[in-house]
Amino acid sequence: MDAPHLLAGLNDEQRAAVSAPLAPTLVLAGAGSGKTRVLTHRVAWLVQVEHVSPHGILAVTFTNKAAGEMRGRIESMLGVPSAPLWIGTFHGIAHRLLRLHWRETNLPQAFQIIDSDDQLRAIRKIIKSLELDESRWVPKEVMWFINARKDEGLRAKDLKDEGDPNRRQFIKLYELYQEQCDRSGSVDFAELLLRAYELLRDRPDVLSHYRNRFRHVLVDEFQDTNTIQYDWLKLLVGPTGVPFAVGDDDQSIYRWRGAKVENLQQYRRDFPGVQLFRLEQNYRSTGNILEAANALISNNTGRLGKNLWTSGERGEPVRLYAAFNERDEADFVVNRVRDWTLKGGRRSDCAILYRSNAQSRTFEEALLAARIPYRVYGGLRFFERAEIKDALAYLRLIFNRVDDASFERIVNLPARGIGTKTLDTVRNYARANACSMWQAAGACISELGNRLGQSLHGFLVLIEQLDQQTRNLPLHEQVDHVINATGLVAYYKQDKGDRGEAKVENLEELVTAARGFEPDEAAQMPALANFLSHAVLESGEDQADEWEDGVQMMTLHSAKGLEFPIVFMCGMEDGLFPSQRSITDVGGLEEERRLCYVGTTRAMKQLFMSYAEQRRLHGTDTYGTPSRFIKEIPPEFIEEIRPRIQVSRPVYVPRSSGSGRMEEERPGGIRLGQRVRHQKFGEGVVFNVEGDGSNAHIQINFERHGMKTLVLGYANLEPV
Ligand code: ATP
Ligand code: MG
Repeated sequence: MDAPHLLAGLNDEQRAAVSAPLAPTLVLAGAGSGKTRVLTHRVAWLVQVEHVSPHGILAVTFTNKAAGEMRGRIESMLGVPSAPLWIGTFHGIAHRLLRLHWRETNLPQAFQIIDSDDQLRAIRKIIKSLELDESRWVPKEVMWFINARKDEGLRAKDLKDEGDPNRRQFIKLYELYQEQCDRSGSVDFAELLLRAYELLRDRPDVLSHYRNRFRHVLVDEFQDTNTIQYDWLKLLVGPTGVPFAVGDDDQSIYRWRGAKVENLQQYRRDFPGVQLFRLEQNYRSTGNILEAANALISNNTGRLGKNLWTSGERGEPVRLYAAFNERDEADFVVNRVRDWTLKGGRRSDCAILYRSNAQSRTFEEALLAARIPYRVYGGLRFFERAEIKDALAYLRLIFNRVDDASFERIVNLPARGIGTKTLDTVRNYARANACSMWQAAGACISELGNRLGQSLHGFLVLIEQLDQQTRNLPLHEQVDHVINATGLVAYYKQDKGDRGEAKVENLEELVTAARGFEPDEAAQMPALANFLSHAVLESGEDQADEWEDGVQMMTLHSAKGLEFPIVFMCGMEDGLFPSQRSITDVGGLEEERRLCYVGTTRAMKQLFMSYAEQRRLHGTDTYGTPSRFIKEIPPEFIEEIRPRIQVSRPVYVPRSSGSGRMEEERPGGIRLGQRVRHQKFGEGVVFNVEGDGSNAHIQINFERHGMKTLVLGYANLEPV
């Protein structure tokens, strides 16, 4: 039973874990110590050395991207296709189970997955239909309530109101929302997990089938499993299965979404005799980066305790840049990326990480201006763009007429004379008769009178026709036909300028995506259904232009498990990172620190951190102080890059005498008394300047608008 190539490239501890006896196992180790590598080798080991059939292995990863990579590595190690092996995210696997067992879970065969936007819309509608005040019953809060209960495995009927009328209303809304989903065959993300759990819990035949089949269940990023995922695993593994979990308590960053780091301990209680392995050597980062990360995370309490070391080089210190504002920060990053690529590095070696998606916009603009290709993970997701969702809604309705969310989205898009009045009639009918919008529409046509009835009839006929015309076409031709025959392409073409053009391009990209789509054979469903589910499940992870070498941009959360030669951690300001909300809450602050640890440990060779003294985000200006996390890194590992004055920005240098003067940074710079032009206010004369740097407040007497005070860094003044 020797398979040296499976153990090659592993250290002693890693080898021990990969070749451990077939018993419950936990690998508890810090970032970059090879946990994912061990898990991958373990799968190959099971197949090749323990002669486990790939059919009997289930591996759970955190993202679809990670699943794809793991599959590729296993195939290359085994030299055979890994198709019978189930690898996927919890959601992906739950989805597959529900497709295979829709009957046993009381779902219609054509059930649809809805994303959080659709979910929110459905909830808002229910709140409206009950004539509740949306400011008191905030749809988002109701959604969080429902999802959190589902994550705990609780249905509305399991909940007690405890005499609290508020809670009673929430429970009622949960119940009504679920009824609505069941009627329209919609399944939200949390529901996928809950149903998959109930399937195993309530169907002994199904449970025993999967227990016999998947004796080996492997889970990456175990620290971020939530209650329902853990319970599902426990049920599946049962008394005879062999679970193999890898995780790192210091990287638990989804507590806010119900993840329970306690599951690491629970696992050891539930599976007595768990073999525990620890890995301490880090293979990813230079010594400097690693020590900075170690120092940072040592500020957290209640850690399981780990010490990471590396035999690699010391490398360069973490570089810290204090930017004037967010544009200066973006310019700084763009320049470093440029330096890297000029030296022959790939753009995709560089990752820009930020705390919230809204921060990406400035970097996108700077990269666009510099003509540097980039890719955003999350946020601006391809499948989430409005025009794509429109096209998908048509496809969904064609596939499944009772999909009310899709019906509402496109019934009057492009406009076809179906207004609020018609829709209200249809909605009321649907509610009164507990039927779908589609059925209600059919029933309401005569009631609506000639003109309105005809418009609605036209829509129903269009959908029926599309169904017939496309039924036997290959997937991408189906998509192509639908975006054209519905008038969507023509509709977006009318949009003036670049926007319309980009939307049409996106619709065309959808056809391309459909052409390249490889259906999941094991799920045994029509290609279209498979594609539609894929669009919801994978949105954001797999952007267009996969082949192009581009800078990678993502939130710190979505960087988990990944690594990049160069990492930029941006927006390192108190209030942004750590976030304002977390600052007053110890648990919250520690979670933010773990997030910072995750970000830091993504870097292999170089790590840049930056903060902006002034930042415009969500339309308001804030003046930030450097993140407390920066101060937690000992000075020997960090080097501040002096704020370099941007050539294009005039800087005010105060004189000791009190009155200031403007230092010219470029020919024709700005001085007191100088005439300048402002885009909106026109021409004026610089009257006074207070403060310094680009934060300086500059007072200008405009000819047409009188005296105004502007912030220099934002004023964009041109000398005249
Ligand atoms: P994270 O906690 O961030 O998910 P991880 O513990 O899963 O990290 P891996 O991603 O598996 O770590 O490994 C980190 C890097 O180190 C990878 O590039 C991996 O290929 C490399 N690596 C792991 N073990 C070894 C080894 N024994 N020899 C050389 N390189 C290794
Ligand atoms: Mg990993």
